[in-house]
Amino acid sequence: MSDIAQTISERLKKVQTRIYDAAQAVDRLPDDIQLLAVSKTKPAEDIWQAYQAGQRDFGENYLQESLEKQKHLTRLYPGNEICWHFIGPIQSNKTRAIAQHFSWVHSVDRLKIAQRLSEQRPEDLPPVNICLQVNLDAEDSKSGFTPSELLEHARQISELPKLTLRGLMAIPKPRSDFPDQLASLQRLDDLQQQLQAAGLPVDTLSMGMSNDLEAAVTAGSTLLRVGSDIFGPRATKPDSSGDKH
Ligand SMILES: *Cc1c(COP(=O)(O)O)cnc(C)c1O
Repeated sequence: MSDIAQTISERLKKVQTRIYDAAQAVDRLPDDIQLLAVSKTKPAEDIWQAYQAGQRDFGENYLQESLEKQKHLTRLYPGNEICWHFIGPIQSNKTRAIAQHFSWVHSVDRLKIAQRLSEQRPEDLPPVNICLQVNLDAEDSKSGFTPSELLEHARQISELPKLTLRGLMAIPKPRSDFPDQLASLQRLDDLQQQLQAAGLPVDTLSMGMSNDLEAAVTAGSTLLRVGSDIFGPRATKPDSSGDKH
């Protein structure tokens, strides 16, 4: 067990160093860039290893799987300070549980989902932080707002009472070439600046994963979502429908 712990904490340290170096290279403050550890398909023990190495924010894609891990970790470590982020596709019948069990939702891809999260957020919890997912490459396989409808929807969503619109999120098409990665990530930054210019107080740009972390930092990301470079490769690609009904 202890060399698994070593591995996750060493990997985490490496990722932190990459963020630091990438930030330095473009004169950004490393502290302005938050790291979200994406723990989908990984067991609760792995999350706890990362927690012990100082990581507090964890991202999950599959509701049922995540709720089980949350319950397990709360039972073993009551009062732990994990901040849970939901980053997976959202079916509307899952919004209530998401509103109850996550502090952040990065994958809000339509108005109706935002309305439901706001309505269903428990009264005793602070507003849920949300990012709007943008379908940058107009891929049929991906959800998200199109760039042209974004501003209008962002305005409406920012007025919902029990959520705080924090910014934008994207999962660009995988590209291996740095300049190509940069170009597509910069489009999300441009859109974020349009929202800011329209008076929306957004401060979070959720972009950058294991293989485009450096490009994302260069393009202005404030929140990186890193999975495999922290927890190791995922054994199987879960089926795209995500949760069982
Ligand atoms: C899985 C996932 C990540 C992490 O991807 P890695 O390549 O493992 O770093 C980030 N964001 C989302 C939305 C994901 O589903």
